[in-house]
Amino acid sequence: MSGWLAIAGLGPGAEELITPEVTDALAQATDLIGYARYVARVPERAGLTRHGSDNREELDRASLALRLAAEGKRVVVVSSGDPGVFAMAAAVFEAVEVGESSWRDLDIRVLPGISAMFAAAARIGAPLGHDFCAINLSDNLKPWELVERRLRLAAQADFVIALYNPLSSARPWQLGRAFELLREELPESVPVIFASAVSDISEAIETVTLRDAVADRADMRTLVLIGSSRTRLIPRASGKPFVYTPRSAGSSS
Ligand code: SAH
Repeated sequence: MSGWLAIAGLGPGAEELITPEVTDALAQATDLIGYARYVARVPERAGLTRHGSDNREELDRASLALRLAAEGKRVVVVSSGDPGVFAMAAAVFEAVEVGESSWRDLDIRVLPGISAMFAAAARIGAPLGHDFCAINLSDNLKPWELVERRLRLAAQADFVIALYNPLSSARPWQLGRAFELLREELPESVPVIFASAVSDISEAIETVTLRDAVADRADMRTLVLIGSSRTRLIPRASGKPFVYTPRSAGSSS
């Protein structure tokens, strides 16, 4: 039996947002690997061994997946959203690069998923309709100075900015600092969207202005979208506006 390794995205939460390709891989898998919370999203079944682990053990997890695939197992590594966005796919390739040379010739596939920024954007309109970027606000894997530099330059370039990992109990101040810095670079009227637990029953989405954005509206399951100076609101009777960024931009000031 020849093994393989699929690095799969489970989407933002709802089952109907998992692609059929990922569902197929999960149905054929002998081993499931990932952060325990994501592994728990896949139903148990006979013949499937589940290896849940702590969120910080990415490289160990990747090496385990590669060893099992080399032994002939059919292995699926799961991430939330898309596995290539601040998630396990890069960790697996890092392990491939430094690991046993035979790992390079394994059957390794990345199966895309719907990333939180796309799920969140779709809920409120089309805020990512023009140029945008995604920034991981966590300074676990990079210095905070680099986060600040990227935020400032992204705002100066007038990108819409999707902020992943906006805060956690171990990183309580970073999002507040990010808003402070962004207020120095952008009009205070730009929309800021707090999209929490998108596609889950506890989903909550709120749009405020950068002026009124406060960090404690966010938690670990929140994606924060910062509009560009062109991002627009269409007010509606429900009080929940559509938010979109027009397809075209004129010359910048
Ligand atoms: N690979 C994932 C991102 C992992 S980083 C993806 O592509 O979506 C984890 C961060 O993703 C969280 O801190 C949060 O910012 C965001 N996130 C993941 N699921 C989410 C959801 N259902 N709703 C809102 N944000 C989510």
